[in-house]
Amino acid sequence: MKPIIKTLKHWPRPLPQNRSAVTIYPFILFRTPEARRKWLDHEMVHIAQVEEKGWFRFYSSYIWHHLRYGYKGNKYEEEASHKDPVDKNRSE
Ligand SMILES: [Zn+2]
Repeated sequence: MKPIIKTLKHWPRPLPQNRSAVTIYPFILFRTPEARRKWLDHEMVHIAQVEEKGWFRFYSSYIWHHLRYGYKGNKYEEEASHKDPVDKNRSE
């Protein structure tokens, strides 16, 4: 499925406040057009991960890895990081 990509004027509270992009399948949400340019490839890896595992299995496993290993140690983020921009400041 083709993701629904949005750049939000307001970044609501429930979204991670220290991130500039987040994938909540089938949506990819960006904080700014610049974030969209930088992080689209990374977020597309998460789209593929959801499509491979299924929505519930992916997000429950993602959250488990996040709590257990943190953002950087999360295997899903590790895989997506191969698509990160060279000048990354903030991630998702
Ligand atoms: Zn990510």
